[in-house]
Amino acid sequence: MEEVPVLIIGGGPVGLTASILLSQAGVRSLLVERHPGTAIHPKARGINARSMEMYRQCGVEAAIRKAGLPPERAGFIVWARTLAGEEIERRVPWRSGAQSAAVSPVRNCLCAQDDLEPVLRAFAERQPAGRLRFSTEVTACEQDDTAVTATLVDRASGTQERVRAQYAIAADGAQSIIRQQLGVPMLGPENVYDSVNILLNADLRPWTADRPAALYFIEHPKMRGTFLTINGIDRWGFLVNSLAAYGYKASDFTPERSAELVRTAAGVADLDVKILGVVPWTASARVAERYRTGRIFLAGDAAHEMPPTGGFGMNTGVQDVHNLAWKLACVLQGAASQRLLDTYHDERQPLGQTTTQQSLNNAISMGRLDRAAKTAGARPEYLNEQGMIFGAQYESSAVVPDGTTPPAVANPITDYVPSAHPGGRAPHVWLERGGQRLSTIDLVGNGFVLLTAPAGKAWREAAERLGLGTVNIGDGELANADGQWLETYGLDETGAVLVRPDGYVGWRSRAMPADPAANLGEAMASIMGRLHLPSSAGEVAPSYGDGGVKGAK
Ligand SMILES: Cc1cc2nc3c(=O)[nH]c(=O)nc-3n(C[C@H](O)[C@H](O)[C@H](O)COP(=O)(O)OP(=O)(O)OC[C@H]3O[C@@H](n4cnc5c(N)ncnc54)[C@H](O)[C@@H]3O)c2cc1C
Repeated sequence: MEEVPVLIIGGGPVGLTASILLSQAGVRSLLVERHPGTAIHPKARGINARSMEMYRQCGVEAAIRKAGLPPERAGFIVWARTLAGEEIERRVPWRSGAQSAAVSPVRNCLCAQDDLEPVLRAFAERQPAGRLRFSTEVTACEQDDTAVTATLVDRASGTQERVRAQYAIAADGAQSIIRQQLGVPMLGPENVYDSVNILLNADLRPWTADRPAALYFIEHPKMRGTFLTINGIDRWGFLVNSLAAYGYKASDFTPERSAELVRTAAGVADLDVKILGVVPWTASARVAERYRTGRIFLAGDAAHEMPPTGGFGMNTGVQDVHNLAWKLACVLQGAASQRLLDTYHDERQPLGQTTTQQSLNNAISMGRLDRAAKTAGARPEYLNEQGMIFGAQYESSAVVPDGTTPPAVANPITDYVPSAHPGGRAPHVWLERGGQRLSTIDLVGNGFVLLTAPAGKAWREAAERLGLGTVNIGDGELANADGQWLETYGLDETGAVLVRPDGYVGWRSRAMPADPAANLGEAMASIMGRLHLPSSAGEVAPSYGDGGVKGAK
């Protein structure tokens, strides 16, 4: 029987990202996907800036951008009677404004899922430790105290085999059979509205080129539909929303009928349209009650199914595995106890619930559930969710409180105040090295790293003893370009911040304590769920870094 440390079930964006992250953390994995290739339909298109920060840290950002559209080619959201008809409302999402550059070194990216997945697949296949097998279905998964045993069926030959893994990630989508086999209940409403997703070829530039939008919402008496920009030229998605409310059934959407509806929504009776595919789907707003069952972890749509209004489904999923991969690596490599793995649920499940609820609130405000509820537009929060994108705050044993509270904001959905409060994303600050600009975001995301203030060099010895990478900012070759670093991170001249491999702050010390080694050692012990860590120079500590921390000196 083949043995592997981690089995990844499902090769959608979440499974593929898990494979990349585990490989980069030095963990061998096997990904199995039942289809012969990656997605053939564009579902998700909006990759938010937080996910792009993660892909930047992985080294795949440029390839994703190449496969997608530049942000300026999708800078608006438009509501109209038809594409050729009256424009009702236009919105510039926050992410498209200049203000977004202040909080992240990267912009969001519009890249359709069927363009994104081949990029992730090719990149995952180039990583040394991740193996990918397509046309292979997991039909059963059992576990005991020591391992997960899965039954794999080769869909081409019908051959069955068993694989034994120490842990499994179920990234097998909204209908997850693994979740069903585990009997994990889903919380929240199912089937809140129905929709079809139509992929088409039509040259829509005459009605779109002068107002390049990511979405064109059509408010027509016959339908509530959405043109989804893919290449902004002749490849588009078209969603028909709230079918039942307009008297449609999914079976009505033959290619001929679909083309007719696209022409009606475009307001162009003789539009040349070729229908490439029609996929009916139903939006739900439900979240798994628990993300961990023994050695099996739910991630992505298997863990949370949310309406696409807001574009959070895939983003939440890939950030789930960003949270999980390093924890699995630390446990498999002997640096952490099992307790660290519980923090995956503790940190991600509440966030999954909030994000799902906000996505549903967007859908309600857009009249997705009730035709009469609204004629056009959306609540002000829609696509202005920077508080949710950058401001998530984790509370778990993998975060050491420092006695402060996170910055107060009037609206946690829209408002983001950069802060290195433990449990939050380590904020972006511009730095400079040898005349080159780099972000604090570029220093993290590959092992633990201790960022130290200008007079905080004494932290280094403590960090080295624990096998942690350190970066001293402001005294030496790495300069604080815009003078914001200490203030944004809440440090004085001798303080330090410990950033976890997922870019979240695990611990912070405003100033130098009497015994920095003891403080740092205790913080790491707490995060890793270990009872004791050495603090004296003579003791040997497990290593938490990977020796290759980007930017570490
Ligand atoms: C119209 C629409 C628009 C959307 N827009 C956005 C957006 O802009 N931004 C965003 O973030 N999200 C968006 N989403 C949501 C996004 O598409 C999903 O959240 C995303 O696909 C989830 O990824 P996943 O990898 O968890 O699951 P999936 O993409 O469903 O992948 C699961 C994979 O597992 C495989 N699988 C299942 N069972 C097995 C098994 N037993 N053995 C082996 N393989 C198996 C499946 O074949 C599949 O390939 C949108 C969704 C829709 C419908």
